[in-house]
Amino acid sequence: MATLTNPSEIARETLKQLLSRRLAPSPENYRAIYNEIAGVQERATSAGAEREFKALLQSLPRETPAQQRLARQLDQALKSEDWDEFRTPLVEFIREHSSEADQPWNELITELLRQWEAKQSGLTQARKRESLDRLLAAGGTNSELLFGRLQNLIRSWSSNEAASDQIELAAHVAEEPESAPEAPARSPTMPFSRASELLAEVREGFAFTLETILATQLGDEPELTSQAKTLAAAVRAATTLKMLDDLMADIKRFAYRLEFVAEDRAELRSGTLNLLQLVIENISELVVDDRWLNGQIEIVQEIVARPMNLRTIHDAEQRLKEVIFKQSQLKHSLSEAKEALKQLLAGFVDHLAEFADSTSDYHDKIEVCVTKISQAEDITQLEDVMAEVIRETRAVQFNAQRSRDELRATRQRVEDAERRVNELQAELDKASRLVRHDQLTGALNRRGFDEIYDSEIARARRRQSPLCVALLDIDNFKKLNDSLGHDAGDAALIHLVSVIRDTLRPQDTLARFGGEEFIILLPDTGAEDASKALTRVQRELTRRFFLANNEKVLITFSAGVTEVRNDDTQARAVKRADEAMYTAKATGKNRVISCAD
Ligand code: GH3
Ligand code: MG
Ligand code: MG
Repeated sequence: MATLTNPSEIARETLKQLLSRRLAPSPENYRAIYNEIAGVQERATSAGAEREFKALLQSLPRETPAQQRLARQLDQALKSEDWDEFRTPLVEFIREHSSEADQPWNELITELLRQWEAKQSGLTQARKRESLDRLLAAGGTNSELLFGRLQNLIRSWSSNEAASDQIELAAHVAEEPESAPEAPARSPTMPFSRASELLAEVREGFAFTLETILATQLGDEPELTSQAKTLAAAVRAATTLKMLDDLMADIKRFAYRLEFVAEDRAELRSGTLNLLQLVIENISELVVDDRWLNGQIEIVQEIVARPMNLRTIHDAEQRLKEVIFKQSQLKHSLSEAKEALKQLLAGFVDHLAEFADSTSDYHDKIEVCVTKISQAEDITQLEDVMAEVIRETRAVQFNAQRSRDELRATRQRVEDAERRVNELQAELDKASRLVRHDQLTGALNRRGFDEIYDSEIARARRRQSPLCVALLDIDNFKKLNDSLGHDAGDAALIHLVSVIRDTLRPQDTLARFGGEEFIILLPDTGAEDASKALTRVQRELTRRFFLANNEKVLITFSAGVTEVRNDDTQARAVKRADEAMYTAKATGKNRVISCAD
């Protein structure tokens, strides 16, 4: 279309275009087409400006409250067509938001610290410090620039963090692709599929170690064994970071307990070694009688046959020491007896020789006398010879008498020595059984208790675990003794010990403290649980009656319980338990009282 210059032609053409373009014949449309035909750039008019402003306002961001307020004020200004209303809020907004204070430094620093602490693949804190130092040195004084650079640095760190997370989660993402919000980024150092495979292998290896290797090693710790198996299952199932995080706490707890087990095992091993050394040392000393050797070997065999714990080893060690001590005493006495016997025999042989000498001398003298008698010519000569014969015979008689007496005395001394040996042997028999145990009930005696107390308190302090002492005394025992007899009383004590042993845990120590009073040591137990344990014994006594001549007799006891404190001596702890027991007696018997403070 040729460019028209005549305004009337332009006007006619404009109308034609309006018709052909089916545009409404509004002034705006007419003006627009007119200018188009005339080739004139439409100048900004107030209507055009209004349109532009509206478009501009629409495109303004309205995210923060400040932006929303500004947009509202500008909308209002447009409506009221007041340019002042535009100017004021705009100027204020720009002034406010160009100030440094409003740069979100606090957010930036928080994020910087978070990323500083976080683990990112291939980024050590030393490397982070280096980048930060470099950036700060180059940042100059322009805080806006510094802000931007810091933002970039943090962003680069956090992208590394994401990468390391993705390695951790690789297996998870591979298994559950639909749950991954985005396609995982590749690790910068390791192909994704390899990381995923590795993680699965590590998990399986760890689970296998827990479930098969560790669980079999922990055969005598059923609770830990089952924990190892549960953990193995949890390791296999941990496919998300959150699950792994939760699992770490369990694994740490488990490892902590394993440390204790390892400690115990080390102690057990050294205890066993000491025990064997003792036996071996003692065997080399054994010269007296094979019975002792057999007895000691039996003790060791018994211990080895039972499940070992520190208590039994310690117990056996103490018993063996006692036996060895007694045996060395016996050996000494036996060699003394042997020596005495040797001396006696030597003496006796000397006497015999003397006697033989004196008798042969006597024979010679008698022969001389016989000759003198045959040659005697008168009675006085005979009298002299007879006197000589009588003197010589008396001397021989005297010697024979002395030898007989000495022989008797020797026999007596040999018999004494033999009796002493037998006594020592009988003592030795007892010693190996009864040194630390009460003869009637087989529970530990005070001496045995003291030793166990020392080792338990050391253990509790090392582990910082609670240890309780309970003292119990049978109620109205005198009455039982009086009505059923002393033997029934003895049997009642044995019955009580058996019920206590069956009801409490193997690691609890029971000792007879005297008469009808017993003391119990409960490791790893607080006062509340110790009271419960004793109440359990009381309940058990109501189920397992003591039978005296087929008569059911209910044995009850009163008990006091206390937890051993850090600064306690044994005497102080026992005294507190005793006081609590006294309160139990005073408040009606057949009850357990725990020391209040
Ligand atoms: P309470 O309820 O206040 O403890 O009264 P109790 O009768 O139990 O206490 P008491 O101290 O008056 O009597 C304890 C009795 O225990 C006296 C003693 O003859 C008896 N006894 C101590 N040792 C033995 C033992 O080895 N065998 C037997 N059969 N009796 C014993
Ligand atoms: Mg008593
Ligand atoms: Mg009593």
